[in-house]
Amino acid sequence: MGTIKPFDPELVYVECAACGQPVLWEEGKTTEVLEWAGLSPGLLDAGWMILSEGCPQCTPREEYYVTHLVRLVRSEDPAGAATAKAR
Ligand SMILES: [Zn+2]
Repeated sequence: MGTIKPFDPELVYVECAACGQPVLWEEGKTTEVLEWAGLSPGLLDAGWMILSEGCPQCTPREEYYVTHLVRLVRSEDPAGAATAKAR
């Protein structure tokens, strides 16, 4: 049976906007960030990335970082179309 797994928000690429390095944060953090932002993880797919204003490498004294969700691709992908259809 072809069960379609929902996109795992932990797979969203996270980059530090300050130093440009990929940010690897602990498991579950991305989901947490999305919840803070009031976004359902189910809305995300691989066409999103997260920009973090700071990371443990360049600003290790910060415990929390301001993050921005960035759409990488246009809504020509099926997931984007599905989102647009939801009213
Ligand atoms: Zn950084």
